Amino acid sequence: MKCMYCKKEIVEKLSFNNVFSKKDSLVLCEECKYNIDINITELAEYTLYYFGDYEFLKEIIYNIKYSGAIHKAERFRELFSLFFKKYKFNLVTIVPINNTRKYSRGFDHIAQLCNVCNVKYTDTLQCDYREKQSKLHKKREKHKFRIIDNLSFEKYPKRILIIDDVITSGNTLISCAEVLKERFPDAEICFLTLAKS
Ligand SMILES: [Zn+2]
Repeated sequence: MKCMYCKKEIVEKLSFNNVFSKKDSLVLCEECKYNIDINITELAEYTLYYFGDYEFLKEIIYNIKYSGAIHKAERFRELFSLFFKKYKFNLVTIVPINNTRKYSRGFDHIAQLCNVCNVKYTDTLQCDYREKQSKLHKKREKHKFRIIDNLSFEKYPKRILIIDDVITSGNTLISCAEVLKERFPDAEICFLTLAKS
């Protein structure tokens, strides 16, 4: 049996008990057990799920984000899979990258993280980034997200999940949630991030 996160072989005695309990739960080595979990907390009026503290995950996140080593995101695949077994959503979406950053780095690491981890998502938001204006008008920066053109669903999405890599202040995720809430006022909105700082 391998650790879901670091993929290290876990040596343990198989008892009747743990064969059955392992199927839908986290399988982690002793080291990862302290650092990785499907954590649940509250952020404003929303539910936030995250896998670990930023201190523990910062190196891998840095790799995914800046060095283009997106394959390293593979180690989150089983965690995502278990997460979606446990929690169901009608709409999974991601925090959009602003166009300026996308062009300078050349890739959207949240979209790629989802692809590597087999997370099916729908683009719902876009980010209009106006640097000069946001410096002058702080409020404008907070509400820089908007719903993409021509977004439509056959069914009203009752439970919406927004994915991002790291949560710090929560401002970005809350801004995204507010925009979606305007469009889908009856939806319950949750967040999932790899890390919380
Ligand atoms: Zn491990």
